[in-house]
Amino acid sequence: MINIEENISLLIKKIENKTSIIAVSKKKSAELVEQAYLLGIKNFGENYLQEALQKIISLNHLDINWHFIGKIQSNKCKDIARNFQWVHTIDRFKVAKRLNDDCPLNKIINVLIQINIDNEESKSGINECQLFDLAEKISVLPNLKLKGIMVIPKNNLENNLTEESFKKTLEISKKLRNKFSEANEISMGMSNDFELAIKNGSTMVRIGTGIFGERN
Ligand SMILES: *Cc1c(COP(=O)(O)O)cnc(C)c1O
Repeated sequence: MINIEENISLLIKKIENKTSIIAVSKKKSAELVEQAYLLGIKNFGENYLQEALQKIISLNHLDINWHFIGKIQSNKCKDIARNFQWVHTIDRFKVAKRLNDDCPLNKIINVLIQINIDNEESKSGINECQLFDLAEKISVLPNLKLKGIMVIPKNNLENNLTEESFKKTLEISKKLRNKFSEANEISMGMSNDFELAIKNGSTMVRIGTGIFGERN
């Protein structure tokens, strides 16, 4: 049995309120999410829409902020807009526009633009040079609030290379904030590198394994 209580209390201690913890609950049960919630976690990240919707419905009685952190197919935007408070993986205007148009009345969806910080073929996200154009277009959509950027640096990097990606991300974030002062969030860092990410300016760490244990 995985002891999520111990994982969460250690994590909270390490993070010292410096960033928000997004508990990544993909492939984990609604029961485990509820346990984590009762231990103080209020933000949960999900990658797969169908799986997420089941949990969101069954945990409707809890005051959870749900973060969509997976690849977005544009035909899924309606369900994402209705069920998530945050979307970390915006990488094209078409998706932003659909989320905006499908957003329920009196709701604002917080969005982050995903940047492909190491220019990897296999990863989603835009290049830095496209960021301002996309940010500009998103900033006029009334139902979305541009809150910042998200990155998934290359894995299996030596620590100092990962740190370079983090530093690069912080620089990009600063430039973005110059123009869009409320876009001050940086979603960066996962179970194996969150401390380094925090040291380099992360404001939201996405932790899966480090809370819930290995996924099958
Ligand atoms: C799965 C996932 C995480 C969590 O990864 P861990 O290594 O289990 O902490 C974070 N971010 C994204 C985008 C993910 O897909």
